[in-house]
Amino acid sequence: MLSSTALRSLRRAAQSSWSGAQQRRCLSIHEYLSVRQLEQYGVNVPKGNVASTPAEASKVASELGMKDLVIKAQVLAGGRGKGTFDSGLQGGVKLISSPKEAEQYAEKMLGHKLVTKQTGAAGKPCNEVFIVERKFVDKEYYFAILMDRKSQGPAIVASSQGGMDIEAVARDSPEAIVTLPIDIRAGLKFDAAKSLAAKLGFAPENQAAAADTFMRLYKLFIEKDATLVEINPLAESLKNNEVVCMDAKLNFDDNADFRQKDIYGLRDTTQEDPREVSASKYNLNYIGLDGSIGCLVNGAGLAMATMDIIKLHGGSPANFLDVGGSATVEQVTEAFKIISADPHVKAVLVNIFGGIMRCDVIAEGIITAVHQLDLKIPLVVRLQGTKVDEAKEMIKNSGLKIYANDDLDLAARESVKLAQ
Ligand code: GDP
Ligand code: MN
Repeated sequence: MLSSTALRSLRRAAQSSWSGAQQRRCLSIHEYLSVRQLEQYGVNVPKGNVASTPAEASKVASELGMKDLVIKAQVLAGGRGKGTFDSGLQGGVKLISSPKEAEQYAEKMLGHKLVTKQTGAAGKPCNEVFIVERKFVDKEYYFAILMDRKSQGPAIVASSQGGMDIEAVARDSPEAIVTLPIDIRAGLKFDAAKSLAAKLGFAPENQAAAADTFMRLYKLFIEKDATLVEINPLAESLKNNEVVCMDAKLNFDDNADFRQKDIYGLRDTTQEDPREVSASKYNLNYIGLDGSIGCLVNGAGLAMATMDIIKLHGGSPANFLDVGGSATVEQVTEAFKIISADPHVKAVLVNIFGGIMRCDVIAEGIITAVHQLDLKIPLVVRLQGTKVDEAKEMIKNSGLKIYANDDLDLAARESVKLAQ
C-alpha cells in the first residue's frame, strides 16, 4: 500500500535528488525514442514512426498501411492526453483514421506548445508527432520501475487502475497500488513476476506474457542505468491474448552518462528550462523557483540554509544557484547573467563560504558581472572564509553599490527588505 504523498516522493526521488554538493538530474527522452529502446529489449509496442512536418505525418500514416491509428504529441511531460495546445486543440493524443487526419492534427500540434498539468502554464513545444497503430485493448494497467529509498533498491510500482491519472488513484484508492521491492543482486525472477501479474489481475492466459514484459523492462532498467521506467498504460487484450506497452517514459541517471553515451545523445534541450540548459553548460547547478530573491551560493547545504533564512524573514527565493567548490570568474559572471535575466528577481543575495572557493575570485566575478551586465538589481553580498579581507577590499574599491554584510542573518533581512 502506498499513499499519494509516498508515490509522489518516490517518483520525485526517482527523478532528481541531492547527493552532497552535486546535483543529480535525470535525463528524460521522448516517447518514440523510449519505445525504440523497448523494442530493442523485445518488448511488445505498437508499430509507429515519428514525423516533424504535416506532410511527413501523412506519409508515415499511409506507410503504416492501416486505418486505425493514434497521433501523439512528442513533448517531455505526462498528461498529454488531457493537455491543451496553444493552437486551441484539446488533447495531445488523438485517435485518427486516415493520412489526411494525421496531416490535419499534425498541423495543429507541430510548432505549438502543449500545456499539461506537468508543464506549468508556459507549456512545452511540440516539434515532433509519433504516429502509431491503434490497439484495441480491454484493460489498462500502470507499471513502473524506480529506485526506492525505503528498500534502497529498485522497486516495481504497479496498479490495475492504469490509464491517465495515476496520481488520482494513489490519492483516492491507495490500496489499488502494489509495490514490489527487488533484490538488485538476485534480479527479477519469473515466478515473482508472474505472481505480480496475477495479483494485478491479468487474465491467466496473459500472465506469462505480462511477466515476460516485466522482466524485459527490468533488464532495460538495470542495463541502461535508468532511474525510472514508467508504462502508463500497459494494456492487455483478451481477444488477441496480447500484452502491450502503449506509452513509455524513461529517465536515466546522469551519473551514468559516461557509459550511456547513446542514450545521452538523445537529449532534447528544447524541452528543458533554457536557464537550466545554460547553467549546465557552465557546470552550474541551477533550479528556477518562483520567488523574488536570486540566490548565488556555493554548496547545496549552504543553498538550503540560505533559502531557509530568506523564508524565515518573510522573503522568497527566485532560484537556487550553486556555483560549486571551484567556480571561475567566467562561471560567476554566467551565474549572474542567468539570475538577472529572470524578471521576477528584485534583489540578489550572494552567500559564499570560501573554503576551496576563494572569496576574492567570487568578488572579481561579481564586479565583472555587475559591470558587464550593467546590473541594476540591488545586490547583498555575504562572504566568509579564505581571502575574505581581499574580497572586501576589492568590493569597496569597485565603487559599486553593493551591500556587504558578514552576518548571514542581517544579509538575508537586507535582501528581503530590498526585494519588497
Ligand atoms: P499521456 O496522457 O501523456 O500519458 O499519453 P498516453 O500515451 O498514455 O495516451 C493517453 C491515453 O490515450 C492512454 O491512457 C490511452 O487510454 C489512450 N491511448 C493511447 N494509445 C492508444 C491506443 O492505441 N488505443 C487505445 N484504445 N487508446 C490509446
Ligand atoms: Mn500515459
